[in-house]
Amino acid sequence: AVRAAGQKFATAQEALHSVFGYDAFRGEQQQIIEQVAGGGDAVVLMPTGGGKSLCYQIPALLRPGTGIVVSPLIALMQDQVDALLAVGVRAAFLNSTQDPAERSRVEQAYLAGELDLLYVAPERLSSEATRRFLGQGTIALLAIDEAHCVSQWGHDFRPDYLMLGELAERWPDVPRIALTATATDATHQEITQRLHLGEAKHFVSSFDRPNIQYRIVGKNEVRKQLVAFVKEQPAGTAGIVYCLSRKTVEQTAQLLRDNGVDAVAYHAGLDASVRAAAQSRFLREDGVVVVATIAFGMGIDKPDVRFVAHVDLPKSVEGYYQETGRAGRDGEPSIAWLAYGLQDVVQQRRMIAESPGDLAHQRNLSAHLDAMLALCETVDCRRVNLLRYFGQPSTPCGNCDTCLEPPVTWDGTVPAQKLLSTIVRLKRERNQSFGAGQIIDILRGKRTDRVAQQRHDELATFGIGEDLSDQEWRGVVRQLLARDLLATVGEYGTLGLTDGSAEVLAGNRPVAMRREPERAARSSSRSSS
Ligand code: ADP
Ligand code: ZN
Repeated sequence: AVRAAGQKFATAQEALHSVFGYDAFRGEQQQIIEQVAGGGDAVVLMPTGGGKSLCYQIPALLRPGTGIVVSPLIALMQDQVDALLAVGVRAAFLNSTQDPAERSRVEQAYLAGELDLLYVAPERLSSEATRRFLGQGTIALLAIDEAHCVSQWGHDFRPDYLMLGELAERWPDVPRIALTATATDATHQEITQRLHLGEAKHFVSSFDRPNIQYRIVGKNEVRKQLVAFVKEQPAGTAGIVYCLSRKTVEQTAQLLRDNGVDAVAYHAGLDASVRAAAQSRFLREDGVVVVATIAFGMGIDKPDVRFVAHVDLPKSVEGYYQETGRAGRDGEPSIAWLAYGLQDVVQQRRMIAESPGDLAHQRNLSAHLDAMLALCETVDCRRVNLLRYFGQPSTPCGNCDTCLEPPVTWDGTVPAQKLLSTIVRLKRERNQSFGAGQIIDILRGKRTDRVAQQRHDELATFGIGEDLSDQEWRGVVRQLLARDLLATVGEYGTLGLTDGSAEVLAGNRPVAMRREPERAARSSSRSSS
């Protein structure tokens, strides 16, 4: 049955079937829709792919007037609107990419009551002119998507979001719904407070994505490790590889292509047409791997992404969770793979030290990084660690690397002491500090030119660490850094001590370490030869 223009639906079920073609609601969708359609406010914390959009789209089809959707993802508004128009929902958007004629057409349609949904960029809503204009029409509801952007401590802060709280007083009778896939308790409270959602009902879904297998490996030769991982996947597998810099994006895409993978690069420095082509190939063809900066993927709805790989350490668990969440939206088995190493830790600590902003801000960044490092170094279930971070206790999952192959731990106290005392001696006897490379050369007793030149072979700790390989020593340094038992100092990232280091040196603090996979691999290949 074709709906007469402007006719609203009687029930949520009817809208779900006849507009979106789905049989049943997922999770808490129905309760959320009832709350908002009934005129109440809602705060919705639901993982990526959980189905947040319907939670405001359907109430907008039930209530008189137009649902206003605030979204920071301007680049995606066109796609979202196109998808709605395709199923017969009267939708439009207002943002800075439009020419005046287009904008005025949308405005007329809104005032005439001819829109079910209107997407608006947050900066528009902070202008009084826009608010006055919207007030002249009928607002069915106000949806605030990506609501974590209101959090100043979060990873996506948008100043314009702070103004959205005022709309509660401006339009007291309009139900409001805030939605996000970021779910720490702190963010949740901030959203509630800053958006004036004190009266709202809260809907917190489980953040578990059981079909995603989490794997985190120590970086050894990351290029080889990545190629091996990607080639392990069945032919025709679609995936995303995230890198930190544009340069690494290009190099990694080339590396994969050289190894027979259908890889395309995507970052903000590429021409819009090149980016659009990459995105469209990824969405429409089978087996395309996108190598991208984290700018890629927000709001992209490709259900059958089979893996998300990170070759650089994400800055926070929130970011990691959001990015890995783009895998397996269809519920089929998928993999989140991350390689990280000593250099990642050094680099990120340095970036934090150099970041603008006050001490509180830097501490906040450090806390985010530390949580990410704890996830990387845990010897317990990754999922338990991840969900605990989001305030959701769980039991070992059986579908992550540490559950499937419990890591071997070893007592790293003595190596840690050898390393720390080398740093102490260099400082005390020579007033010098060095990066990991030189310290490891000293410990392993390598007579390099630099060692000779600095007469580091005369140090008492020269050669006392020959029992461990280079790679193992790097693992020791990385794990100590990750636990704040070692610090990086200054712009060259030389190594220094922390309060915790003193405890380790004094023998008051045992250090259990994860066995590096390389060592495990080496010893097993040794024993089999
Ligand atoms: P989110 O915004 O939470 O990441 P979306 O709203 O984009 O998630 O929904 C993710 C996918 O799930 C979309 O392809 C959407 O069409 C689909 N979906 C949402 N709700 C349902 C449902 N009740 N039944 C079937 N598919 C659904
Ligand atoms: Zn597990």
